[in-house]
Amino acid sequence: MDCIFCKIINKELPSDIVYEDDKVLVFKDINPKAPIHFLIVPKKHIESINHLQESDREIISNLIFTAKKLAKEKHIDGYKLVFNVGRKGGQMIDHIHLHFLAGKIAQIP
Ligand code: 5GP
Ligand code: ZN
Repeated sequence: MDCIFCKIINKELPSDIVYEDDKVLVFKDINPKAPIHFLIVPKKHIESINHLQESDREIISNLIFTAKKLAKEKHIDGYKLVFNVGRKGGQMIDHIHLHFLAGKIAQIP
């Protein structure tokens, strides 16, 4: 499949890995928008929030619990979690991912 994030998950492309288990990979964003910018990515290829099926509930929940775990482990006491959805929502990579942003971030209106 021609998906950059699947290739990163399969280690066909390099990334700066922050955390990995059997369901999720977390790596640093190559073009960070904040001092801390991780991408929390399920290993299952799902295009976007709009492509979720009922059976994906646990996968999405797991992304949020992974964020919580990382924040605790890394002593990050405040952060933002963002899903971009569709081109008009700023989504450029069609493999669902949760942005984890911390540090000095421009405020979202
Ligand atoms: P999106 O705009 O789809 O919500 O977010 C995609 C993010 O992936 C962007 O913040 C972009 O900087 C990041 N990104 C794109 N290509 C790569 C890559 O090859 N490696 C890493 N680590 N991040 C990438
Ligand atoms: Zn993919």
